[in-house]
Amino acid sequence: MRCPFCGFEDTKVVDSRAADGKKRRRRECTNCGKRFTTYESVEMPALLVLKKDNSVELFDKNKLIKSISTAVNKRPVSIEDINNIVECVESRYANSNQITSSEIGEIVLVSLKKIDQVSYVRFASVNKDFNDVESFIKIISELKNNDNE
Ligand SMILES: [Zn+2]
Repeated sequence: MRCPFCGFEDTKVVDSRAADGKKRRRRECTNCGKRFTTYESVEMPALLVLKKDNSVELFDKNKLIKSISTAVNKRPVSIEDINNIVECVESRYANSNQITSSEIGEIVLVSLKKIDQVSYVRFASVNKDFNDVESFIKIISELKNNDNE
């Protein structure tokens, strides 16, 4: 850490404490003896998403909220429901800093299935990359079977 007064490279930390999630450090220049304070952010580990094509991207909370919102458009699913689903995804990061995109998809699908079946089918149609009508009919007939149980 360079001294802001004389530009000398070597400064020492004389006091260190946490403040608002940041590290507040009181430093003293070993050249001119002047003191100054620095605030250093605590680095959060990057949350990574492993995609199907083996590429990796940073977890984008807003992107996930947007894709769920699209699926639940005009359906009885509240913003609170959406936030709960996103929290559910984030909690999967507790033990590691990466998750696959299909794991994220599954968490969203399991949650939506309980809240609103139309939103569930909509999200599945985008997330599961249906290529034909049969696979779409299959997921809907699965829902029907569950209702009869
Ligand atoms: Zn100095």
